[in-house]
Amino acid sequence: MSTETIQPQDMQWLEKGVFGITWSDGHQGVYPIRHLRLHCPCAVCTDEWTGELKLKPDDVPMFIMLKDIQPVGHYALRLIWSDGHDTGLYAFSQLRRMCQCNICQPDKVTDKKTSRRLL
Ligand SMILES: [Zn+2]
Ligand SMILES: [Zn+2]
Repeated sequence: MSTETIQPQDMQWLEKGVFGITWSDGHQGVYPIRHLRLHCPCAVCTDEWTGELKLKPDDVPMFIMLKDIQPVGHYALRLIWSDGHDTGLYAFSQLRRMCQCNICQPDKVTDKKTSRRLL
């Protein structure tokens, strides 16, 4: 699978606090915005050398809001947050990997397990 030319085709809110990006390969990306904020790739939040996250969950307000989204060239989005943070540039390829949908994150499907068993 090539990810070099992948671009967001459409963006919309899927539900409150969950941002959706439809990618050029047809994948529907699912992005809870607090998750995006917590994984901000900027030098303040993520150590550039080790890739280690410097930001702690406690550092981000529970009800963080996304104030604005600005395209940066043809490769990234800048996200402007309600806590004043605006230095995070999310490269498309990086964003694609951060997708939290059930296909990309199969381990996260825990809430459906109890109610229904797959045949
Ligand atoms: Zn940041
Ligand atoms: Zn996905």
